[in-house]
Amino acid sequence: MKKYARLLAAMLAVVMMVFCFAACGAPATEPTDTETPNEPAANLNLQTEGVLVMGTNAEFPPFEYEEGGAVVGLDAEMMQEAAKRIGVTLEIKNMAFDSLPEALNAKEIDCIAAGLTVSPDREEVMAFTDGYYTAMQTIIVKKDSDITAADGLTDKKIGCQSGTTGQWTAEDYTDVANIVPFANGALAVEALINGQVDAVIIDNNPAKEYGTQYGDQVTLIENQFEAETYAVAVAKDNTALCDAINNAINDMKADGTFDKIVEKYIK
Ligand code: GLN
Repeated sequence: MKKYARLLAAMLAVVMMVFCFAACGAPATEPTDTETPNEPAANLNLQTEGVLVMGTNAEFPPFEYEEGGAVVGLDAEMMQEAAKRIGVTLEIKNMAFDSLPEALNAKEIDCIAAGLTVSPDREEVMAFTDGYYTAMQTIIVKKDSDITAADGLTDKKIGCQSGTTGQWTAEDYTDVANIVPFANGALAVEALINGQVDAVIIDNNPAKEYGTQYGDQVTLIENQFEAETYAVAVAKDNTALCDAINNAINDMKADGTFDKIVEKYIK
């Protein structure tokens, strides 16, 4: 009996030591970061723990563009806020739009937020959150163009941003040989101004920005195509991260934060 009591005491001592270590392990001066209110969610399968790496192409205003060396815009701000709510730090990697799916697949980035349209083809290689924005392709032509609607695009030379739904839309109207893909929308619009292409097909919000920029030279032809949904993409098997981003964005929608961000960037 005495033997058991001693054993019990020894075990209790070990247990207490472990507890003490656990309790005293955390430094008393742990920084209290009010900017990060949430504990980091576990098992998000991030490449670097605590860091959410977002891939984007910062040539798609007002969703992402560079300002003073930083990537800003609706997507950037939405994801900063989402990361804060998830309890991780956001890092933005700026790259060519058409290299984003590959970067996600190669795990160079954890997610894509790039005004990225949900499509069946893309759903085969990546997973999407719920949609956060509804968009539509817009046609940009020069003021003196005879193109006034989508059917006028038949067999025309069309400029677009490489790898986008704008390019896929162009393929419905003209031969691939007539489609000129550019690294970004700005270059496509410059080609239109210079007479290298007859029209540009690009998402409506960037189209509006170019419309303002080249106001006296171009006309926008809107509401010609089907609506598209933007969502954030993650690796196909990363359900935990998909859920975490989804919850954060849905919370932002519920408390009005999301609308404030939209109003800031879209007039
Ligand atoms: N919404 C378009 C797409 O997903 C264009 C996105 C972009 O150029 N950033 O293809």
